Amino acid sequence: MSRSNGQAECAGADRGAMSLQADVATFALTALIAASVLFLPGCRRAESPASQQPVRNMWTVMGTFAAVSLPATETNRLADATITAKTVFAEMDRRLSVYRDDSEISRMNVSSGGQPTPLSAGTVDLLRRVRHYSEVSGGAFDPTLGPVIRAWGFSGGKKPSKVLTEDILRPLLDRTGWRHLQIEDSGASLAKPNMFIDLGGIAKGYAVDLVMDALDPTNYPNVLVDLGGNVRCRGGSRPGSQWRIGVRNPFARDELIGVLSIPSGMAVATSGNYERFVELDGKRYAHIIDPRTGYPVTGMASVTVVSPNGTESDALSTALFVAGPGASKDILAHLPGNEALFIPDQQPPRLLVSPGFRRIFEPLPEWAPRLADW
Ligand code: AMP
Ligand code: MG
Repeated sequence: MSRSNGQAECAGADRGAMSLQADVATFALTALIAASVLFLPGCRRAESPASQQPVRNMWTVMGTFAAVSLPATETNRLADATITAKTVFAEMDRRLSVYRDDSEISRMNVSSGGQPTPLSAGTVDLLRRVRHYSEVSGGAFDPTLGPVIRAWGFSGGKKPSKVLTEDILRPLLDRTGWRHLQIEDSGASLAKPNMFIDLGGIAKGYAVDLVMDALDPTNYPNVLVDLGGNVRCRGGSRPGSQWRIGVRNPFARDELIGVLSIPSGMAVATSGNYERFVELDGKRYAHIIDPRTGYPVTGMASVTVVSPNGTESDALSTALFVAGPGASKDILAHLPGNEALFIPDQQPPRLLVSPGFRRIFEPLPEWAPRLADW
C-alpha cells in the first residue's frame, strides 16, 4: 500500500497532475487490490528527472480501476492523457456495457431472435474480432455465454443459492453459441431468442487499444495504459528503457512472482481464478466459464498473455484459461507474436512459460526454480 502512496505523491507533485491527486489517493488501495498485474511504482525525488520513476494517475471506472503512466520527464502531459483515457472509457461504456439498457450491446441482447440491431462501425469491427477469437480458440472464448455467466451470479446476475446443476445449465447452454452471432456491414443479430452477449472477456483490452490510438505517438512516445490489469505500452518508462510490470501471485494476490519487461507497443493481460468468484457450499467458483459444460473452469490459477495488442491479449488470456496449457498450444500456433505464462491451480506451484515469455520475464528468486517450459 505504501507503494501506491508513493506513486500518488509522484503524480501530485507536478502541477499538471495536481487536479487528479484526489483520484489517485482515493483509489490507490482499490487499484492495488483489483489489479492482476502490478505496475512497479516508486518515487525518488532526489534523482534527475530522466532517472526518476514514472508518474501515474489511477481512478475507478466500469467497476474496476484504470491507470495512465508516463515517464517523470513527461509529467506535464499526464492530466491530458488521463482526460483522453477517461473520454474513451466513457464511450466504451456507452457502447458495450451490459449494465446499461441503452448500450449497443444491450439493445442487441433485447432484440435476440429478431432483426439485426444497427451498430456503430467500431462495435461491428469489435464483434468481428470477437468471432475471430471464438473461432481460433475452438469456442473456448465464447461471448454468448451471458445467460450462464449471469446464472452463476456474475455480470449483474443474482448469486445462486446453491451450486448450479446440469438440469439448470442445459437450457441456459441452449441459448449460447458464438456461431449464432451474425454480423452484417452495419449491424449484428443473435439468431436465437433470449441470447445474451457478454463482452467482459475482451472489452477492457479493446478499450485500452482505443486509448493508445487516441494518444498520438508524437505527443506520447512513452506511455502505459492499464484497465483492470489489461496493459498496453509504448516506448519505456525512462529514455532507452522498457516498461516493467509486476505479475501477481495468484495464490497470494498481494504478492508478486516476478517482473515482466514489455516490448514497446505490446499488451499484457491476465485472467485469474482469484479475480472474481462466488462461494457456494463452501467452495469457490470463478467467473470464467467452460462453454462446453457451463461450469466455472477449474484447474487453472492464472494465465498471462503478451500480445501485439490489448484486444488480443484480453481475448486470449480468457480463452487460454479455458483451454488449459495442452490445448492452448494449437490455439497459439495460429496466432504468432503471442507469449504465455500458465499457472495451474496446483501445489507446489509451477510457472509454465513459452520461450518468448521466458526472455522478458524475471522471476523473483523464490519463484525461479518453479519456472518450466510450457
Ligand atoms: P477476463 O478477466 O478477461 O478473463 O474475463 C472474464 C470475463 O469474461 C467474465 O467475467 C465473463 O464476463 C466473461 N467470460 C467468462 N467466461 C468466458 C468465456 N469462456 N469466453 C468469453 N468470455 C467469458
Ligand atoms: Mg480476457
